[in-house]
Amino acid sequence: MTLDEAEAFAVAQGWQRFRGEQIWRWVHDKGVRTFDEMTNLNEATRARLREVATIGCLTVAEVQTSRDGTRKLRLVTRDGQSIESVLIPSNEKTTQCISSQVGCAVDCQFCATAKLGLKRNLDPGEIVDQVYLAQRLLAEVEPDRRITNIVYMGMGEPLHNYDNLVTSLRILTHQKGAGLAQRRITVSTSGLVPKLEKLGGETVRPNLAVSLNAPNDSIRDEIMPINRKWNIAKLLGALKAYPLEQRRRITFEYVLLAGVNDSLDDAAQLAKLLRGIKCKVNIIPYNPHAEAPYARPSASAVDAFQNECKRLGLSTYLRTPRGDDIDAACGQLANRVNGSPIVPLRVKKGPPPAPNVE
Ligand code: SAH
Ligand code: SF4
Repeated sequence: MTLDEAEAFAVAQGWQRFRGEQIWRWVHDKGVRTFDEMTNLNEATRARLREVATIGCLTVAEVQTSRDGTRKLRLVTRDGQSIESVLIPSNEKTTQCISSQVGCAVDCQFCATAKLGLKRNLDPGEIVDQVYLAQRLLAEVEPDRRITNIVYMGMGEPLHNYDNLVTSLRILTHQKGAGLAQRRITVSTSGLVPKLEKLGGETVRPNLAVSLNAPNDSIRDEIMPINRKWNIAKLLGALKAYPLEQRRRITFEYVLLAGVNDSLDDAAQLAKLLRGIKCKVNIIPYNPHAEAPYARPSASAVDAFQNECKRLGLSTYLRTPRGDDIDAACGQLANRVNGSPIVPLRVKKGPPPAPNVE
């Protein structure tokens, strides 16, 4: 529930409106998971709540810890669907990568989540509960750390689940709840142009990351079928019109696939394409998984690509894989435990294998 909905719920119970806010704060600010912990409510109110309401909609099924400290949580919904969420600690911050859908419909050729197909959207509660459960886990294992940043880069295409995405953003940023700053939240999209335009008109303004992954339409058509609907020109047109907050930049994600989009000429095309856009590029060397016919470029090819981008004036960051030993890195989220899928993956014939240059 949003705060408004919680207040309406209280009124519908015959209580005063402020009861709704009290209950809502316990859940979203304090993170409690039982009504008995709500010490400012009397026993009759708590008893009624136990009858008509529940708190939380996910349960933790599994926590895997990577040798680099990254933790992957497998969470189960009430209807038995599994989703994944990843906690990534670094020196000064702790980033949580959350899912917006069970599976994904976009079908990018390099992504393990795509192979699940789309099962369903997550509702706002299921999106925010990932954060609350992770916060509790962190409090147990590393009491000095708090989640500082949220990225919608887990399973699913957030803009395909637009209304629930926006509701979840309103809940997570609400001052009376978790109160996360908008500038610490990033929504990543494969580029649904009409929804990007709509997002620009919302009052809640997360950072934007766009999975570009190619310097031209012919490569992007091949690896991201969504490009056949909204090509690079339409995508960049929407981004140029996007009302960016002051001092913010758009992040472009660029998964480097050996022999597909990693040549120096690709770097030059990319730099030219993005000239004049306030942006930075996150270069993500491909994280391998069994269902896609690609390979990660060698370290020297990655370096050469990045150097060429830099030389041509593009601001780039190399995203080092985190949690790849537990299939928790970008593009590897497919409900796998010890390398084996817990649900059958839908494997489609992909493009021809790229040469392995490693
Ligand atoms: N659906 C959204 C967010 C989830 S995907 C989107 O596509 O933006 C998060 C990021 O992982 C995307 O930038 C995607 O390009 C990247 N990714 C997908 N598969 C990958 C892989 N196998 N290796 C590295 N990055 C991958
Ligand atoms: Fe979906 Fe993003 Fe994976 Fe593409 S990269 S299939 S949009 S999750």
